[in-house]
Amino acid sequence: MALVGAALKLLLLLLWLKLNALAFCQGKSSHNRWENEYPFIKAASSFSSSSSSSSSSSSSGREKTYDYIIVGGGTAGCPLATTLSQNYSVLLVERGDVPFGNLNVSHLNNFHISLVDTSRTSAAQTFISTDGVFNSRGRVLGGGTAINAGFYTRASTRYVRNVGWDGKLVNESYGWIEKQIVHRPNLAPWQMAVRDSLLEVGVSPFNGFTYDHLYGTKVGGTIFDKFGHRHTAAELLASANPEKLNVLIHATVQKIVFDTIGKKPKALGVIFKDEHGNKHTAFLSKRRGSEIIVSCGAIGSPQMLLLSGIGPKAELRKLNISVVLDNVFVGKAWLTTP
Ligand SMILES: Cc1cc2nc3c(=O)[nH]c(=O)nc-3n(C[C@H](O)[C@H](O)[C@H](O)COP(=O)(O)OP(=O)(O)OC[C@H]3O[C@@H](n4cnc5c(N)ncnc54)[C@H](O)[C@@H]3O)c2cc1C
Repeated sequence: MALVGAALKLLLLLLWLKLNALAFCQGKSSHNRWENEYPFIKAASSFSSSSSSSSSSSSSGREKTYDYIIVGGGTAGCPLATTLSQNYSVLLVERGDVPFGNLNVSHLNNFHISLVDTSRTSAAQTFISTDGVFNSRGRVLGGGTAINAGFYTRASTRYVRNVGWDGKLVNESYGWIEKQIVHRPNLAPWQMAVRDSLLEVGVSPFNGFTYDHLYGTKVGGTIFDKFGHRHTAAELLASANPEKLNVLIHATVQKIVFDTIGKKPKALGVIFKDEHGNKHTAFLSKRRGSEIIVSCGAIGSPQMLLLSGIGPKAELRKLNISVVLDNVFVGKAWLTTP
């Protein structure tokens, strides 16, 4: 009997040790892993205007300032911050948390869970359009890439030409992104059926597997790897220059601050709220060409401009927002994905 009791105690002890080890693996160690890999990502409340060693001094000589302030750390914001940090001091400001260790984000099987999670901490923010359509937008570092279906394609050459970009430079810019977060998919039976159906109804030619945007049917890239793990734009920050980049999470930008004394308004910095509701201001450096880049997404970006006083004068006045620049196009002519 005593032997059975001792064996039971040993079994319980082993179980306890295993559970503790598991908790350690899932919690603390994965947390430390991203902090080690991305030492420049910090909570917004840690911000002080003198916190960045790589940024230059403002006119007062005391405050730390940035060559670029990027508002919104999503699909566009993360690679942009990474690229600019190679040569300039950059502050990337994101309202959400990190996607690392968030199982709803990182597993293909949980794709739907983020989208139906309407809690305040969900990586996806649910909204209903004015015509009543339910939709979601990213609220996390990595933005839409943390909640979307993960299909990846390059832009069409026609699109690049129409917006006036340098086609050669655009093509050179895809490589590092594709190497880091894009994968060739293993087609599931239903995906093969869709491919075959498209070909059967004449959506041709069949272009095989390619990242190029081509007419016909093709198999494109995916940000889910062969194990069903999602790779978001936040992972692109691993290629940033850590000496020149600061990333703030839980930092909700409220408005861009302008100097309106001269002939043209000039952006000076941004005001943001941290996770405790405290306000901070981050300033641009005096370097010629310093910029605030608004990459808050299709809804967030015009919203940010409007909150900052850029938009149709009459609408701003109705909302009691001081007009910095009257621009009738802000928030208009929206298109949905075809
Ligand atoms: C369900 C779904 C499926 C999709 N599937 C695909 C697909 O398979 N392939 C594809 O190519 N596209 C897909 N898309 C579209 C794609 O995800 C978006 O077009 C893309 O993510 C937009 O990138 P962005 O950088 O403009 O904005 P986002 O990636 O949304 O980034 C904006 C960032 O700004 C932050 N932000 C907003 N306001 C503030 C503020 N005030 N202060 C601080 N930060 C702020 C947000 O939290 C967010 O992280 C899908 C979209 C959805 C919703």
